[in-house]
Amino acid sequence: MVKLVQEKYPRNQAEFDAWFASEEACREYLAAIRWPGGFRCPRCQAGSAWNARRQRWICAGCGYQASLTAGTVLQGTRKPLRMWFRAMWWVTVQKNGASALGLQRVLGLGHYGTAWSWLHKLRRAMVRPGRDRLSGTVEVDETYVGGKQPGGRGRQLGKKALVAIAAEENGAGIGRIRLKRVPDATAASLEAFILEAVEPGSAVRTDGWRSYTRLRARGYRHEAAVTGGDAAKTEQEFPRVHRVASLLKRWLLGTHQGAVEHCYLDYYLDEFTFRFNRRSSRSRGKLFYRLLQQAVATAPAPRGAMFERAHSSDPSARAESLE
Ligand SMILES: [Zn+2]
Repeated sequence: MVKLVQEKYPRNQAEFDAWFASEEACREYLAAIRWPGGFRCPRCQAGSAWNARRQRWICAGCGYQASLTAGTVLQGTRKPLRMWFRAMWWVTVQKNGASALGLQRVLGLGHYGTAWSWLHKLRRAMVRPGRDRLSGTVEVDETYVGGKQPGGRGRQLGKKALVAIAAEENGAGIGRIRLKRVPDATAASLEAFILEAVEPGSAVRTDGWRSYTRLRARGYRHEAAVTGGDAAKTEQEFPRVHRVASLLKRWLLGTHQGAVEHCYLDYYLDEFTFRFNRRSSRSRGKLFYRLLQQAVATAPAPRGAMFERAHSSDPSARAESLE
């Protein structure tokens, strides 16, 4: 298959600085990513347009105005694209996760809240829309995150959040992963996660928890291991999900001091997954390119969904600022 547009990205800081020295250069680059086959008018299908001003293209055929950022996570931004490019470039190099305070310093933003909301927009873009499901042999388990009291599967969660984990086998190692916060450990919740994360027909390995007993009927090859609730045995049987769970917990503790509210946890899980699944990629430029590509393919956050809380005076909503 012929690839129409070759992926081009800066290989290092010097190239990044040289390529994106102006708004114009950022616009052209973003337009090439958003419209990889060239501009196509959504109204009359004409293939030519001129760049009027800022992020607007005007169709040469019918005069339709197309916005480069409308319908993407960058929609409605008043800040220069250059700043967004610098934010994404910076985010891709943060091995242990990006902090709002760090981003604020790097960009010289006046308000912490701006850096905070930018990071959350970028985290939204870290999950590729319509991404492939995991396949082959996949380990699945759940783990508790945050809070202090241990809880059984059937009990109330209290301050803890329950996170479902799926990890692909790749020889003795781990392939790709998927993480998702689930409301509880019922069959309905866990089956919904597996259907979203794992390709039917794959082999799914779980422990003997009753919520997993209908997986065969859902189209999976189900392998249940009997662990009798023994922690050491469970870890031995499911080394991949346990490795992922411990890395996730360490990351949340180290980067966010464990102070992650449940409503934000989804974004952090996305960021963790993005970094984990690309951990072997040594090319910073490629990560940057993927993030930009996903940023223009991701719809903007629903209005008010995250920003109200960013500026809230509730101290727990600002826990991240303590880092
Ligand atoms: Zn047109």
